Amino acid sequence: MPMTMIQWFPGHMAKAKREVQEKLKLIDVAFELLDARVPMSSRNPMIDDILGQKTRLILLNKADMADEAVTEQWIRYFRDQGRTAIAIDAQSGTGVKQIVAAAKEMVKDKFDKMRAKGIKNPRPVRALIVGIPNVGKSTLINRLAGRHIAKTGDKPGVTKAQQWIKVGKEMELLDTPGILWPKFEDEDVGYRLAVTGAIKDEILNLQDVAVYALRFLSSHYPERITERYGLDRIPDDIVALFDAIGRRRGCLTGGGGIDYDKVADIVLYDIRTEKLGRLSFETPALWT
Ligand code: GDP
Repeated sequence: MPMTMIQWFPGHMAKAKREVQEKLKLIDVAFELLDARVPMSSRNPMIDDILGQKTRLILLNKADMADEAVTEQWIRYFRDQGRTAIAIDAQSGTGVKQIVAAAKEMVKDKFDKMRAKGIKNPRPVRALIVGIPNVGKSTLINRLAGRHIAKTGDKPGVTKAQQWIKVGKEMELLDTPGILWPKFEDEDVGYRLAVTGAIKDEILNLQDVAVYALRFLSSHYPERITERYGLDRIPDDIVALFDAIGRRRGCLTGGGGIDYDKVADIVLYDIRTEKLGRLSFETPALWT
């Protein structure tokens, strides 16, 4: 399925925020869906303001593709901030069972109060998924619903009558997620989202994205590069690294030079299809 990238304008952002805040009135807990490989870059920059005091559970999705040790660091990072985060893989369902249990635990006080007021059988816990495009919102909705729920267009302002999806007996989920925007003005964010495939390749220059990725991998996962491309060591110079990978992979132009577009394609393909293993492109150390 082609990735969709929305055109976000200030008016769209204001509207998206308003739409999420309307939905907040209906729910007990918001699931903030982040990409485990880039939790900060896949986060809406105004999320604290948008969600306010609403009970929030952070879900680090696509954990199957992320570096497990780094995901653990992120869970601790969020815990230190007084938040609960769990690692999930919405595609296969790993970790998804924990969501209902964690949500119930988080709203326990509120529901205990309902019981204290004499409500014998409180209603199911009501939840909403919020996140930027391509973070896995629809996949998670389908996974929790146990069936296919039609996806609404990734366009703020496209409304349809929303419905509650039953998730077992104890939870209900709004079938339309809250779609939020990433931090566009930050160049690193753009590159990280591009590397992980969250934004369309056409938007950024593919070679630039591959340069960004290879620089990062050279300093954080050098052995993955040397192993995959059969190199003795990582050259100091990024062009030399492109050349070395290009030679190993036979990415040559008609004139015998290196086809850098082809190298970029291969590297990004390898990253996105886990040929370089599980990778995380952000660690909490950058934020502490
Ligand atoms: P949305 O725009 O937030 O609704 O994102 P989608 O649910 O459409 O997912 C975007 C892409 O990520 C799709 O290709 C999904 O198959 C993929 N995806 C979603 N969740 C996971 C996950 O946990 N692991 C992996 N590997 N891929 C996922």
